[in-house]
Amino acid sequence: MQMQRTIGKSVSIKGVGLHSGDDVSVTLKPAEEYTGIVFHRTDVTPGAGSISVCASAVSGFQLCTQLENEHKVKVGTVEHLMAALYALGVDNVVVELDSEEVPVLDGSSEPWVALLDKAGFVEQDEPRKRIKILKEVVVKEGNSVASVKPAGDFGLHVFVHYGSQVPPQKGDFKGTEFEFRRQLMKARTFCFERDIEYMHSMGLAKGGSLENAVVFNEDGKPLNEEGLRYKDEILRHKALDAMGDFYIAGYRLVGHFNLTRPGHEMNNRLLRAILENPNNWKWV
Ligand SMILES: [Zn+2]
Repeated sequence: MQMQRTIGKSVSIKGVGLHSGDDVSVTLKPAEEYTGIVFHRTDVTPGAGSISVCASAVSGFQLCTQLENEHKVKVGTVEHLMAALYALGVDNVVVELDSEEVPVLDGSSEPWVALLDKAGFVEQDEPRKRIKILKEVVVKEGNSVASVKPAGDFGLHVFVHYGSQVPPQKGDFKGTEFEFRRQLMKARTFCFERDIEYMHSMGLAKGGSLENAVVFNEDGKPLNEEGLRYKDEILRHKALDAMGDFYIAGYRLVGHFNLTRPGHEMNNRLLRAILENPNNWKWV
């Protein structure tokens, strides 16, 4: 039987929000059994700042995954932290922050993994509950398809294709901590040079820079001096995002996912489609 886990002590980090450009301080705090993952905004009216992670708290996808509570208090760009919490097996934690967006740090999950390692981990006294997929569920939109099938453990197949400049990429990933550390955690968020003006006109990516994102030019070459961290960094980042997006369920999912041209919105639509029908899943 797997037991619930939290972190060993409080740990803090500072950074900027990718979209807001605001400075943000974050503190991760240990939490009791059955707390789940709870974001807590310290910069809003006392009593209104807690946002519990669950599929129905997702309120928007402006190039990130955003959660909202009943007081309309939001927290954005949660996915890279959620991916690290998933991979390192953290069930219960309070994430305190003083702005509307989780800092982007270097655009990957690696700084979150380092912070969690610094906190350490504590096994708790209650068993972990997981969501086991019982039936195939498929959602489609345009040329994006997201599906899940029953399987003995979490698995992920991802296919991405961003036009002629970058060759199509596909790969299979497991949900284990070992694989995440080895294959996924360093993969950074990315965009194309041609999209930057549009994002800025929408008030997005104000905190974006070559320090926290890979930017591809029209020839599909990275503008970042240091180049890519993995040849298929785009693919791996999409896999990392998906792991974070599915952990928004608040519980670990047991099933095999197949994602063609995924995005945060498709990931959440699949998650909701799974959870809305009680015949699709059971607790294990
Ligand atoms: Zn991402």
